Amino acid sequence: MGELIHRSKTRKVRVGDLTIGGSNELFIQSMCTTKTHDVAATVAQILQLEDAGCQIVRVAVPDERAADALSEIKKQIHIPLVADIHFDYRLALKAIDAGVDKIRINPGNIGRKDRVEKVVTAAKEKQIPIRIGVNAGSLEKRFIQQYGYPTAEAMVASAVDHIKILEDLDFYDIIVSLKASDVNLAIEAYTLAAETFDYPLHLGITEAGTQFSGGIKSAAGLGAILSRGIGNTCRVSLSADPVEEIKVAKEVLKSFGLASNAATLISCPTCGRIEIDLIPIANEVEEYISKIKAPIKVAVLGCAVNGPGEAREADIGIAGARGEGLLFKNGKIVRHVPEEEMVEELKKDIDALAAEYFAK
Ligand code: SF4
Repeated sequence: MGELIHRSKTRKVRVGDLTIGGSNELFIQSMCTTKTHDVAATVAQILQLEDAGCQIVRVAVPDERAADALSEIKKQIHIPLVADIHFDYRLALKAIDAGVDKIRINPGNIGRKDRVEKVVTAAKEKQIPIRIGVNAGSLEKRFIQQYGYPTAEAMVASAVDHIKILEDLDFYDIIVSLKASDVNLAIEAYTLAAETFDYPLHLGITEAGTQFSGGIKSAAGLGAILSRGIGNTCRVSLSADPVEEIKVAKEVLKSFGLASNAATLISCPTCGRIEIDLIPIANEVEEYISKIKAPIKVAVLGCAVNGPGEAREADIGIAGARGEGLLFKNGKIVRHVPEEEMVEELKKDIDALAAEYFAK
């Protein structure tokens, strides 16, 4: 079974019933594409995201109508709700009052000090955190002037500036993101941020692109950042259904052994030794395990010559043999089954293994 690699030490921040940072797992986030004031559509999308494995969800709050919808949305969902506000402190106050679990607002964009104080006081009273979202594309002019263009240093300087506003008001429940659509810039910015302060980091490669190209770009960028032990929550941003963002995020986390609630498929690329029609089987098993919320590894292999040995790290798997399937566990064959039954047999064993995991 997959071991979780703990992230580098950061402060711990509560978001709803989750604790972000410290040695806690890395949580997957997404953002609704619906109009927030449309409660039914927004709730329906959030429930789909929950089903796909989303653990924290953000909604845009651009106006009063959106803010007014938040308490009803919150009642109908099961994961922490984050309100995304650009600069209007009144919307931030309304969102906090509606019971959201976190707000995303940059304190430096709110304006007058008394307004910032009101937001911070309300967040303190409700014990909810504030995420500071620095974006390379919308960096404050003074940092662009100082650094020439949006560099990692300029992004971290902007984050530190916003952090200082909150710290001066004795507020420390802070999460920071430093998103860029340039992968190298994002890697540098997150690395520098992790060296500069110990607030939890929300990772993302922004405006990554469409489902295929954006998925790969996100995986490349997030992968490089995660491999440095950095990151406490993450969002993959795609021009696609947000459920696709969850799928990509889950695969990225699984690649690093960081997903505690998802099963992983190992399948061979096939070659001239193949004994079964592997590609549809691999797709069917992948679809089946997408609903398994345990970190088990399942292998589907084209032949038994190198099969079970090649997939030694799998907890369980099948390999094709002439006219039959070999079911194996931890690299050892446990039984032979007729080819037409092997996928169903594998599914039964997957369920049993997942039940064993949850019984522990
Ligand atoms: Fe080829 Fe068998 Fe390896 Fe698949 S498991 S790549 S069929 S040798």
